[in-house]
Amino acid sequence: MPEETVTRIRGGWIVAFDGTHHRIIRDGVVIVRGGTVTFVGKDWDGDADQEIDASSDLVMPGLVNVHSHVGAHAGDRMVFDGGRRDLFRSGFLNYCTGKGINGPTIHDHERPKAGIRFSLASLLKCGATTVVDMGGELGGGSEGGGMGPMVELAGELGIRLYTSPGYASAQHYFDQGGRHRMHWDEEAGLRGLEKAVSFIENYDGAFDGRIRGILVPLEYHTATHDLLRRTKEAAKALNVGITTHCAESVLETHDSIREHGLTPVSMLHELGFLGPEVILGHGLYNAGHSQIAFPYGDDLARLAETGTTIAHCPLVFARRGLHLESFQRYLDAGVPMAMGTDSYPQDILGEMKFASLMGKIADRDHENARTRDVFNAATLGGAKGLNRPDLGRLEAGSAADIVICDFARMRIGPFLDPIKALVQCCDGEVVKHVMVQGNLLVEDGRLTVWDEKELLNDVRDSTDHAWSQFADYWPDNVAIEETFPASFDIWEGHRQV
Ligand SMILES: [Zn+2]
Repeated sequence: MPEETVTRIRGGWIVAFDGTHHRIIRDGVVIVRGGTVTFVGKDWDGDADQEIDASSDLVMPGLVNVHSHVGAHAGDRMVFDGGRRDLFRSGFLNYCTGKGINGPTIHDHERPKAGIRFSLASLLKCGATTVVDMGGELGGGSEGGGMGPMVELAGELGIRLYTSPGYASAQHYFDQGGRHRMHWDEEAGLRGLEKAVSFIENYDGAFDGRIRGILVPLEYHTATHDLLRRTKEAAKALNVGITTHCAESVLETHDSIREHGLTPVSMLHELGFLGPEVILGHGLYNAGHSQIAFPYGDDLARLAETGTTIAHCPLVFARRGLHLESFQRYLDAGVPMAMGTDSYPQDILGEMKFASLMGKIADRDHENARTRDVFNAATLGGAKGLNRPDLGRLEAGSAADIVICDFARMRIGPFLDPIKALVQCCDGEVVKHVMVQGNLLVEDGRLTVWDEKELLNDVRDSTDHAWSQFADYWPDNVAIEETFPASFDIWEGHRQV
């Protein structure tokens, strides 16, 4: 958009930032000049080049998604309702784990570009204008020169993306007996870090600053202490953040306690790794969690005092019968909370609803995990984790990343409070327009840049192919239909009167 173009958005309900909190302005205007918001308030008497009528709608800041895997989630979709019992309800260890050391995984049979395009489009259409990708390891990184395609596609679409190639000192695999094992290769981890550093040197700031670097040691579980220390130093030298998976599985947490006597978060604290530039997904199994039988230490205090952000992604854990204990407890302890979509659908509004509902269930208290706090996590919380005071809010000077939700619909019905209506009644389908850096990327619910039908067909072809190769990557010699039976059998018959 040319620097001088001025857009006036007339909003029915505007989520405006007063410098400290979100507020609601009824029947107000947001003025965008180029890529920046220049005015938010009741009236503005200047001349605009164009106007967006959102007088029946909610106008809010673009949501900040601090944990996503920009891919099709072929494995994740497969293990719903099923998977191995010896992984203690962990989902990802089922399908991210190779058959033998360096053995094939489901991702080897996907076409990364198809997954990336579908995924970025889904994230954007559901209201996420800024996305952190967890290192491209899920269907993202192997096609045509590492992470290049992901950056190019994000640049083409116009979404904000934080990423770099993920790295690890160990890989999970299943041995010949089908047992879960870990293969350590310290040098591979160090080489991965080097690759990530050069990626960031090349791409940080690309596409008008929408592509940004973040270091992604993939998991606490698969990183040596030396790799974590070097990551911390590299992040400081590059002036970028760090994100990793941490305290996300019972196996990981017990391995840490058995090896070091400390939970993952306590160990990271001991290493000096935690800090305001660090985002941990998902920080579930901290001292005192009811599933780990280890009540010792105060992990939440460690997170709070170091300003370490938790990327909370409740849906993927709810599907395995698990939850954080609890959103409110973390908040009360002062832990910075942000939101992500670890799984599919890549719908951060849906995740916000689950965060509120699962938070109430975890505490058996309906006053906890309030809508307001969940909304703050998905906006201000994410922006804090990324050190971006220009994101997650609408005020003069903030980035023109704006989401307009269609409130003239039956789905919402009557409402007393627009934010409760949004989070408790809706999901990403309510999103009507999405603007990033002043560019309208979703208009009337459709992408303006890509053909949705084409990208959907493409990702379905790619994923069907990956499922057809089940025997290649699955440790047991059993057909996919037997391992993951369909809800109902296909029937060729009929009934007739
Ligand atoms: Zn993840």
